[in-house]
Amino acid sequence: MAKKGDMLYAWTNDAGLAKKAECGGAVTELLKYALESKTVDAVLAVKRGVDLYDAVPVIVTKAKELDACAGSLHCGTLLLSRIAAEYAPALANKKIAMVVKGCDMMGILELAKRNIVNLDNIIMIGVNCGGSVNPTTARRMIKDVYGVDPNSVHKEEIDKGQFIIEYEGGHKGISVDELEEAGYGRRSNCRRCKVKIPRQADLACGNWGVLGDKAGKATFVEVCSEKGAKLLKGAVDAKKLATEPANPKGVEIRAKVENAMLKLGDKWRKHDFEALAPVLWETIAQETSRCMKCYACIDHCPVCVTRADKFKQPDMMVRHGVIPADQMFHLRRLAHISDSCINCGQCEECCPSEIPLALFSHAIRTEADKLFEPKLGKPAYTN
Ligand SMILES: Cc1cc2nc3c(=O)[nH]c(=O)nc-3n(C[C@H](O)[C@H](O)[C@H](O)COP(=O)(O)OP(=O)(O)OC[C@H]3O[C@@H](n4cnc5c(N)ncnc54)[C@H](O)[C@@H]3O)c2cc1C
Repeated sequence: MAKKGDMLYAWTNDAGLAKKAECGGAVTELLKYALESKTVDAVLAVKRGVDLYDAVPVIVTKAKELDACAGSLHCGTLLLSRIAAEYAPALANKKIAMVVKGCDMMGILELAKRNIVNLDNIIMIGVNCGGSVNPTTARRMIKDVYGVDPNSVHKEEIDKGQFIIEYEGGHKGISVDELEEAGYGRRSNCRRCKVKIPRQADLACGNWGVLGDKAGKATFVEVCSEKGAKLLKGAVDAKKLATEPANPKGVEIRAKVENAMLKLGDKWRKHDFEALAPVLWETIAQETSRCMKCYACIDHCPVCVTRADKFKQPDMMVRHGVIPADQMFHLRRLAHISDSCINCGQCEECCPSEIPLALFSHAIRTEADKLFEPKLGKPAYTN
């Protein structure tokens, strides 16, 4: 009988699925069970597209189709909460399950605050996330640093601090620290992220802390809500999923790894933010002078959702037909999202002018949190 707070190892009883999955297939099995038991009407997940650099969001209603989504795509930088927002009107009275990284989870919570989604209708199966790699950077990194044709790579994984590739003719791993020192590796917003285990999801699943013969064959599951406990219990009772209590040593190791990742996040914040000070506004003004006002930063933001179309109409604050956009355009966007920015990085990732927008809003939010929030207590999540 699973309950909130439990920590266990879980794996699928389906040998075929276990082969395709990342670490034992518990996540895919839970999603399949959610559909089969009619706990949900649909699942929002991610599927490999033309290659491993191409992560495609999919809405699935037939359990068997979920097998094709198994596996972790570390070059999958898409934000599922933004996609949930797009589908929100169509899914209004439907129950859905979705796989969420920390940023996806924070995005869903922001959407719930704005009444765009209803948390009662969503089951969030969280996956721990040390960070994702921009697909273009990954291709360059594999060519330049690994000396391998990126098109010949058929599998990638991040294990024990290394980014490992398998390609025609071999496999190679290089430490993420080394890659990042050379200007590659994880996206800069992921390096600064401090939501590595998404505990405000219903379940938090990952490979940290899985030891012994279970390593690579099971997932560590932290049960974070009654909803999560119920789903897990149902899948075990239906004999779809097997579990055992997590090894206490594994629990300890997982906590240590998380702590080390949080410290690394602090190190990157210091590195990135100190480079901005003390001339943040001048830097913003200079960088945003490349803006062509394509609105990609707004169209992909999980916070700037409801009135995005209205934003494009003439109003008293932003002059139209002026390129580069005048500073009021950026000032207003930053003011609007300032204390809600979740550092998902989408604004920066989707900016064709490569303006470090996520860095600016994350720096502003982090500083404001430090200055104003301690007296009010910790925010819902500490991003
Ligand atoms: C980008 C990323 C980084 C991760 N980093 C860590 C880490 O540092 N430490 C750790 O303990 N665990 C990490 N994980 C979780 C781990 O890799 C496994 O996903 C987890 O152990 C579950 O394994 P499984 O076999 O049960 O999952 P599976 O049954 O293989 O299911 C995996 C699910 O993840 C979904 N998925 C795949 N890629 C993405 C993506 N980019 N965004 C959203 N959903 C996706 C798939 O749709 C599928 O439903 C990461 C996962 C991802 C996606």
